[in-house]
Amino acid sequence: MIIDCHNHVLAGGLLPGHGLFRSEMTLHHREGSALDSDGEAVGTDEDTLGGPTDPDKLIADHRAVGIALSTVLAVAPSDYTKYGQRGTVDTGRVTGVDGPLSIDLANDYMAALVRRYPDDLVGMAAVNPRYKGVEAAREELRRAIEDLGLRGLKLYPMYDHYSPDDPELALPVFERAVELDIPVMVHMGSTPVRDAPLRMGWPVLLDEVARTFPDLRLLVCHTGFPWVDECLVMVGRHENLYLDVSHFNSLLDQRATYDFLVRAKQLGCSLSKVCFGTDYPGFDPPGPLLARFALVNDVSSGQKTVPRNLMAGMLGGNWARFAGIDWNEDETLDEIDDWEPRWRQIMDPQ
Ligand SMILES: [Zn+2]
Repeated sequence: MIIDCHNHVLAGGLLPGHGLFRSEMTLHHREGSALDSDGEAVGTDEDTLGGPTDPDKLIADHRAVGIALSTVLAVAPSDYTKYGQRGTVDTGRVTGVDGPLSIDLANDYMAALVRRYPDDLVGMAAVNPRYKGVEAAREELRRAIEDLGLRGLKLYPMYDHYSPDDPELALPVFERAVELDIPVMVHMGSTPVRDAPLRMGWPVLLDEVARTFPDLRLLVCHTGFPWVDECLVMVGRHENLYLDVSHFNSLLDQRATYDFLVRAKQLGCSLSKVCFGTDYPGFDPPGPLLARFALVNDVSSGQKTVPRNLMAGMLGGNWARFAGIDWNEDETLDEIDDWEPRWRQIMDPQ
């Protein structure tokens, strides 16, 4: 089973604040794609930025290129940044959750989606200890896991303005995750979003968390880009740490992807800790991202190649182990063989 471990669905907040957030978020990506672009932010309406992400489209886009399971991540609620009401909201009214739209229902929307697509989606809850206080966040996490049935937790420290090693705000949330025995994914790395303190995205901050909670399953999102070396060293140091390549992989061509995997090994990070993800619908589409990654040995030019079993792990097994879900290596190797012609077509459409 090939898994995309990092996706966003529905809307991440309410307009107009969410429009400004999206505009700033996509700025570098648009700038980076053309040296002559002037870096002006686009408008803040949903027409310009794309409306909420439809779960049917997400699933169809993934299945069309061989991804069998998609992890969807809630956005944590906040109302005190310059982006207004942030948090997963079902603006398209596709989940069937009643009542007025509210960021307080972020985890309810996610749970409703997972109930509707149990074979296609895995849902991760989100909480924010600065929103209504740390005790409220701990209780919301318990509710999201025990009552709503979500699989794990996603945290966004820099967007929500707290440090992931903050003893009062963050550590009690990680402690609750240990009690609930759930995996935790943490947004780490930079963001072009301006009202988010950069220092709170430094992946090394999770070293203290991993040292405090050695049993906690923790995943560093986006390979902590641009602090990739720091992220690799840290993930390599701790048995229960993982990373995902989402968003980071949109910045890498195939050769740079190969070099990244070599670099991971050099810095002591086993490829059994690297997880494939796309950050859908954010940047490059799933097809090219998956094809570049899965066929990375094409550019090894006589150097060492990634063994098939390790590639299968990165494409699903590693995340399944992190998240505690069933996964079969032989089955996945067969799927990789079956999909390879399609991926080659994506890489070379002629
Ligand atoms: Zn993301």
